[in-house]
Amino acid sequence: MSITILSLSLILRRHFFPYLPLLCLVASLALVPSLLDAQNEDDFARARREMIERDLRPRGIKDQRVLKAMGAVPRHLFVPEKQRPAAYEDRALAIGEDQTISQPYVVALMSQLAGLKGKERVLEVGTGSGYQAAVLSCLAADVYTIEIISSLADRARAIFSRLGYDNVWVKTGDGFFGWEEKAPFDVILVTASAEKIPDRLWQQLREGGRLIMPLGPERQNQILIRATKISGKPSVEKITDVIFVPMTGAVKTENR
Ligand code: SAM
Repeated sequence: MSITILSLSLILRRHFFPYLPLLCLVASLALVPSLLDAQNEDDFARARREMIERDLRPRGIKDQRVLKAMGAVPRHLFVPEKQRPAAYEDRALAIGEDQTISQPYVVALMSQLAGLKGKERVLEVGTGSGYQAAVLSCLAADVYTIEIISSLADRARAIFSRLGYDNVWVKTGDGFFGWEEKAPFDVILVTASAEKIPDRLWQQLREGGRLIMPLGPERQNQILIRATKISGKPSVEKITDVIFVPMTGAVKTENR
């Protein structure tokens, strides 16, 4: 046994010793991608902190839990790779299928308007990239999110599982009908525009709950509203002008 080990080490030394520096170089090159990844993650974390100071705090986002969530969720992992350098700019970005991820300020604003304390059950209509749902998952107990485009729903499901967002559930389907089995919700967030609040969604909001969504015509200035359910009726606050992609599906025929 010891003779075998001795001869093996002699063979290794004779044949590989001259190449040792080269082997070391190859080994360290193999480490480069993970070192670069770590470096990139540091850069992205810094970009998130800058985004908070530049685009969120000065514009009135002051809920500490929302700021913390915005500082934690890696928006760059929710956008297509070529969009990553722009991930922390305050603008909507294309995510494929002719859809967009909302600008960080609007995500933070809608999250702040939700007034979440941590124990709520939230419904989001319009999963898109999954970013808004990931932010909500840091603020509430359970997040249910519905996406009508199956490829986007699948991609969001995969990223939630990869990043460990285990209090988010994705349904592929038409959010116009809500998620009856999981109702009532404390908060409903709709991230696509409609002319008026879909009645089925309103029915699934609990008394005292808040529904936040953009209302108005397609691809034109819409108004972001927060409707609070008081004695079954909406008490509506108009928040600000926004432009969202339109809600599709049954809303086109049934929301009249
Ligand atoms: N919240 C998303 C995010 O964080 O990336 C952004 C949503 S994007 C502005 C609007 C999304 O709503 C699109 O992905 C679109 O396919 C989806 N959508 C439109 N109509 C819908 C409907 N009736 N039910 C469910 N999702 C819908």
